[in-house]
Amino acid sequence: CGIVGAIRAQNNVVEFLTSGLERLEYRGYDSSGIAVWTPNSIERVRRVGRVKLMEEAAQAAGLKGCLGIGHTRWATHGGVTEPNAHPHISNDQIAIVHNGIIENFEAERSRLQALGYEFTSQTDTEVIAHSIHYEYTHTSSGNLFQAVQTACQRFQGAYAIGVIAKDNPDQLIAARMGCPLLVALGENESFIASDVSAVIAYTRRVVFLEDGDIVQLSTQGIDTLLDKHNQPAQREIKMSELSL
Ligand code: GLU
Repeated sequence: CGIVGAIRAQNNVVEFLTSGLERLEYRGYDSSGIAVWTPNSIERVRRVGRVKLMEEAAQAAGLKGCLGIGHTRWATHGGVTEPNAHPHISNDQIAIVHNGIIENFEAERSRLQALGYEFTSQTDTEVIAHSIHYEYTHTSSGNLFQAVQTACQRFQGAYAIGVIAKDNPDQLIAARMGCPLLVALGENESFIASDVSAVIAYTRRVVFLEDGDIVQLSTQGIDTLLDKHNQPAQREIKMSELSL
């Protein structure tokens, strides 16, 4: 299983997302998907089976944009079906990818259902999308980073997540707790990935996140990084020497 994400000044992210996911195939997966920001909506393609099938569907649908996230799923909660594949989207507004397990998802699902959220999957993951949407619309006045930060405080378990929002075309948010995640920095473009192999065709400048880190990325790199104590933190930029 793996996640990828990209925010690029001019270039389409779809090629990066799909090729990155193919490079993460070795980690194991049963389905895959990508979501891309467009001026009208967040467009999504998901498929059970090989990443190649999802890639062909994305090409056929003409998916294109400068901001997006992608996922290969290794199902832990909910069967191997297209509705359970990531990305998960809340109210056409928030799209997320998640590796790991949210252990308290049942309590979170009940809480969110009571708030009016409708669930379209059997995954533990979907609570993340709705929880962020709730904070985004009720407590953070559209500040996506803050919404992710508040929502993450509710989750027990392990996660690496990538988040985009319909109203925030200039931001890619990522967070990790107990699952690997790195940021990669290019020229006027930034990426996230579960491991270096997904990004080295694009850039070798990488920052390994630590447990509890939440980052806000723009095309110019890391805008904000808070650590597990919610304090601003610096992380070293390393040059990856992994061969292509
Ligand atoms: N627990 C999530 C699910 O079953 C994510 C699994 C993964 O890490 O791919 O959908």
